[in-house]
Amino acid sequence: MIAIKPERLLADLRTLAKFGQYKTGVDRIAFSDEDIAARKWIAERYREAGLEASMDRFGTVYGIAPGVNKAVLIGSHSDTVPQGGWLDGALGVIYGLEVARAAQEAGYLPFGVDAINFQDEEGTYLPCLGSRFMIGTIDDAALDAAHATDGRKLTDAIARARLSGVPRKLDPKRQIAFLEGHIEQGPRLESSGNKVAVITSMAGIRRMTVTSEGRADHAGTTPMNMREDALTPLLRFGSFVVDVFPKLSSGETVWNIGRIEATPGAANVVPSGAGLSLEFRDSDETVLDRIEVAVSEQIAALNKAGSRMSLDVTTRITPTPMDVGIVETFEKAAQDVGYGHERMVSGAGHDAMFLARKIPTGMIFIPSIGGRSHDIAENTKDEDIVAGCVVMARAAEILACGA
Ligand SMILES: [Zn+2]
Repeated sequence: MIAIKPERLLADLRTLAKFGQYKTGVDRIAFSDEDIAARKWIAERYREAGLEASMDRFGTVYGIAPGVNKAVLIGSHSDTVPQGGWLDGALGVIYGLEVARAAQEAGYLPFGVDAINFQDEEGTYLPCLGSRFMIGTIDDAALDAAHATDGRKLTDAIARARLSGVPRKLDPKRQIAFLEGHIEQGPRLESSGNKVAVITSMAGIRRMTVTSEGRADHAGTTPMNMREDALTPLLRFGSFVVDVFPKLSSGETVWNIGRIEATPGAANVVPSGAGLSLEFRDSDETVLDRIEVAVSEQIAALNKAGSRMSLDVTTRITPTPMDVGIVETFEKAAQDVGYGHERMVSGAGHDAMFLARKIPTGMIFIPSIGGRSHDIAENTKDEDIVAGCVVMARAAEILACGA
């Protein structure tokens, strides 16, 4: 039997939260000193657990179970958003550590448990860098071009952190499944009272920037009808999003204008440039297509009326179904250990999204208090943290028995 140790699990989670601790949360962005220190600490824990531990030049940490040629891979990411929470990603990393450690202690199972801690899931430089590199969908050109919003280059961050280990490619012959545990980052489990959500699919994401060009002029002396104000058409586009997206929605679609800005950004200067970021998510690709078409038609219509706007689609992530067999395994595991569970679509992207392209993959969520995440208020009850790990361990055991 894989029997996890709750006190050890919680203690390791709390120790990991000290790396980059910020008030009640954690600030541990990818490749920061705190991030690299946390990754070295994880590698040490893997080693202690009897795994073969290594860290690659991106900072992804591998814990490989020795003496087996098949394994269930479990993990997540330990990098955070700026001023983020202590559980996002870290929870799934420690689940991987604890289940792999408990599997080593359990002794003989037909298959082993490998643990992993992916780099830069949060996208400081490149979203899901670790998992995307592992499945082979990032090439050298993308790595060379990757940079943070403040212009720092990924290649410089790697050099600064002095990382040099060789990255591993996923081995589908060895790694028969990938399992990821995560906090829900929403309020649904808390209101249903279930301990676990089994994820059936991950919503697709479209992310784009809309920019508008104009001409800077004195805002006090230039008559209104003689201006080329870059911001006005952008605000019209914004109100299109607010007013028309509800009609385009599947009912589950979510959208967000997360950034809007005007340059030069002075009260007495007509904006010469303006831009906003827009993203929307749905588990149905046809809905995403429909909205994207409506967005470009709207921009074309505004340009026809005299504005100079352009659309740059920066991200198109297709919805990702989770493996049906793993979904059922998680449900059986939750039943075996007596915890209420429900199915859920994940609105957030995760490393599991990429692993799912190569090997059978599944995810579980545990409740988030108040649905809060990506913030220092993020938290989950200890008993729920433990419950999720018990379900994870049971699912790993079912899979590792080859059943
Ligand atoms: Zn995460």
